[in-house]
Amino acid sequence: MNIITQQVTAYLDELYRPLNSFLEELRKEAENNHVPIILRDTEQLLGNLLRMRQPKKILEIGTAVGYSAIYFAAVCDDALITTLEISEENAEIAIKNIENAGESERIQIIKGDAKKSLVFLQKQMKEEQAVPYDFIFIDAAKAQYQAFWDACQPLCKKNTLIVSDNILFKGMTASDDFVLNRRYKTIVRRMREYLNHITNTEIAETCVLAVGDGVAVSLMKE
Ligand code: SAM
Repeated sequence: MNIITQQVTAYLDELYRPLNSFLEELRKEAENNHVPIILRDTEQLLGNLLRMRQPKKILEIGTAVGYSAIYFAAVCDDALITTLEISEENAEIAIKNIENAGESERIQIIKGDAKKSLVFLQKQMKEEQAVPYDFIFIDAAKAQYQAFWDACQPLCKKNTLIVSDNILFKGMTASDDFVLNRRYKTIVRRMREYLNHITNTEIAETCVLAVGDGVAVSLMKE
């Protein structure tokens, strides 16, 4: 199920304009290959959040074939982007796409489970006394969002924006009526727990939006 009607989605898609021809082609290719890249309206929301925030350092959890990372680089001229990917195959495709986009200097892929990579980044940040991230995009295994959020905390500062994608999970997070397959039960329960946490925590202000497959935008207060 789409979280908004097919007709509204189709109308919004008509209004969408790709940022450049490279991204247009990459989106087509990803969609033809059923790679779950960011939806068009999610992309547009992220674009303007990035333009407002003007991040110098961006962290992404879940690279897939590199579409969103390349989009971030296109929107933010002078940002450095670190993106984490568990699938060797996806990471290799992403490396090629990032090279073809001419963004290898600014986009670094770290292969492996993001939970481990985040610990590595925490250590690196401490040792090198590096500055925290301005913008974090969580777009990987849905059942692990809380673990990603927790591991991201030492990498944040006041006003870091954390955007979590797919939080409504085709409407299933909102109601059991939409959970058609029992195998999604655990993911749905964990996503509800995650949303409950990030909308009630003292350390961030979070708004939950019915954009794309559901997007939570959290502004860190500390
Ligand atoms: N952000 C990408 C885009 O819009 O172009 C799409 C990312 S796709 C929805 C999710 C990706 O997260 C998949 O490529 C998957 O292999 C990866 N992933 C899943 N669990 C992960 C984990 N624990 N650590 C790192 N990557 C993970």
